[in-house]
Amino acid sequence: MSTTPNNILQDKFGRDHAYLRISLIERCNLRCSYCMPEEGVPLSSKSHLMTYEEIYDIAKTFVKHGVSKIRLTGGEPLVRKDFNVVLEKLASLPVELSITSNAVIIDKFIDVLKVNGVKSLNISLDSLNRDKFKEITRRDNFDQVYNNILLLIKEGFNVKVNVVLMKGFNDNEIIDFIHFTKDLPISVRFIEFMPFDGNKWDMSKMVSYSDIMNHVYESFPKTSVERLQDAPNDTSKNYKIKDFTGSFAIISSVTNPFCDSCNRLRLTANGQLKNCLFSATESDILGTLRAGKPIEPIIEKAVKAKFKVRGGMNTLEKLQEPERHNQNRSMITIGG
Ligand code: SAM
Repeated sequence: MSTTPNNILQDKFGRDHAYLRISLIERCNLRCSYCMPEEGVPLSSKSHLMTYEEIYDIAKTFVKHGVSKIRLTGGEPLVRKDFNVVLEKLASLPVELSITSNAVIIDKFIDVLKVNGVKSLNISLDSLNRDKFKEITRRDNFDQVYNNILLLIKEGFNVKVNVVLMKGFNDNEIIDFIHFTKDLPISVRFIEFMPFDGNKWDMSKMVSYSDIMNHVYESFPKTSVERLQDAPNDTSKNYKIKDFTGSFAIISSVTNPFCDSCNRLRLTANGQLKNCLFSATESDILGTLRAGKPIEPIIEKAVKAKFKVRGGMNTLEKLQEPERHNQNRSMITIGG
């Protein structure tokens, strides 16, 4: 990274940003209540969304300056009509490509993922119970998602399963999810419920890192719970139950943020750069590109403006101020 003469992706705290998450679409085929408000979100008109050529041009600039990993997300990235074209274009860049998906329709994409070198996928599944799945997603697609997770494993992909935990809703499934890793080579990642515009977050609904570990130690002997080495820039704290095939992890953005090693930037489907998931400000990359101007100065300014911790919410008190979430978007239009 630091080999570029003008390191535009390094912020003022010395963090290099080698990881870009691109949201391909604001729409989703599920309606998860923690991700989008019940009444939906105002969608950008098609003309305000990045075309596949624009996605490619913007990504190419980031790669030129040191991005080595790109994750495609949304909304639901697979719902985008030209998803295959976007993927093919990005696969021509020297980057590791990965995808976050709800997996409802991923069985139709196995070949295209393989051909374009996608090896790892993060799949969201918040309950192993069909009725609860329907309650949280407002759609009856549990079987497709579950079977598609098994299909992805069979086809040789590395699969991480994202579980957003909410108190009184699915925290009684923590141990079931850990048992899900017994015979399957997956990593189940428990995510602390985070506040975004319109998702009715409050701290009391969140299941914390320490709550999760308490559940684990109530069910497994301490000596069988192994702490694994986390990868550099990893957002998760990784564990494994002795002799289980897979592993589990905790993403503790609320109680134990990992901002010191953050290397991520986010590009929304309408071409706005967010220097942090929690950032209230955005930089108009698409508008600049369409105006025929260079996007590097905008990228550099956005990176240099990045706060040290969670978009400036450096305390739990600040994170709990609702007006701060209202300045941000709903997760569905950020791209998690
Ligand atoms: N549709 C895809 C999916 O379902 O994975 C990609 C987009 S989704 C916004 C990306 C990730 O964000 C999912 O794993 C989802 O669980 C997570 N997410 C959404 N809202 C969240 C919240 N309030 N707190 C924590 N994670 C959240």
